[in-house]
Amino acid sequence: MLSYQHAYHAGNFADVHKHLTLFAVIDHLLRKPAPITYFDSHAGRGRYPLMAPETRRLGEYRQGVAPLWQARDALAQEPLLSAWLTALAAMQPDAGTLSHYPGSPAWLSHRLRDQDRLWLFELHPGEHGHLAEQRLGDNVTWLHADGLQGLLDRLPVVTPRLCVLIDPSYERKAEYREVVETLNAAMGKARHAVMLVWYPLLPSGRHRDLLDGVRESGLRKVWRSELTLHAPGEASHGMYGSGVLVINPPWGLDERLAGAMAAVTPRLGPEASYRGNWWVGE
Ligand code: SAM
Repeated sequence: MLSYQHAYHAGNFADVHKHLTLFAVIDHLLRKPAPITYFDSHAGRGRYPLMAPETRRLGEYRQGVAPLWQARDALAQEPLLSAWLTALAAMQPDAGTLSHYPGSPAWLSHRLRDQDRLWLFELHPGEHGHLAEQRLGDNVTWLHADGLQGLLDRLPVVTPRLCVLIDPSYERKAEYREVVETLNAAMGKARHAVMLVWYPLLPSGRHRDLLDGVRESGLRKVWRSELTLHAPGEASHGMYGSGVLVINPPWGLDERLAGAMAAVTPRLGPEASYRGNWWVGE
């Protein structure tokens, strides 16, 4: 079953949280010249026109990236946000107008250096078709394949550094456990890797399978970053928050993210709140 299409949700609060976290990690990695291999196991389309019918239909970007874009002059006081908003502007056809939201392949490829490499996986044929149309650069390979197996098949890598984004749609409950198994197997092959795993906060609490599995898995350093729009409503089945686990987080990531999220969170809703803490280790 592959029915999820990220275009319906592009640029929402969860994308902002996930891509800001990814951006902060890349920022740290780019402080050194040593080559980096990136994997994006669930790539999506790569880039989302905000005026596309799917994206306009739910208009989730209006409570996500749009208010941040509107407040960009004020938010540029915060160093990480300033860099993120500058990159967001650079990825627009017209830098003064927010017309497209970049998906994770765009955020990753935008900052790729000659010595770096990016692997993208997308299993949905239609979504992969859109991805293949993007011009993401010579160091980028996109595959119509399962991203978790594709990652494991390619480890270890030849570059000294490795960064992985795992961002499933969680259409199947089993995916939470599959992610834990993949993390364990991947870390067994590449202990130094920095890995980011996104998960939704749903009233059903299914993400506990992921969090408990990670805690029981023997991974040593795991940072948990969660943004909630409101308390989990008993009447609603909708996503009330967004979580990212960062395995082997770069030093100082917690403080940089906390600073950026303190500025972002009040713009996303009156009850929005952010919390970052060690889930395993430290
Ligand atoms: N990472 C993207 C971003 O941040 O812009 C969004 C990805 S979206 C949440 C999840 C994507 O994973 C969907 O496009 C879906 O078709 C794809 N997908 C689902 N199962 C997959 C699998 N086993 N391997 C690779 N892609 C898969």
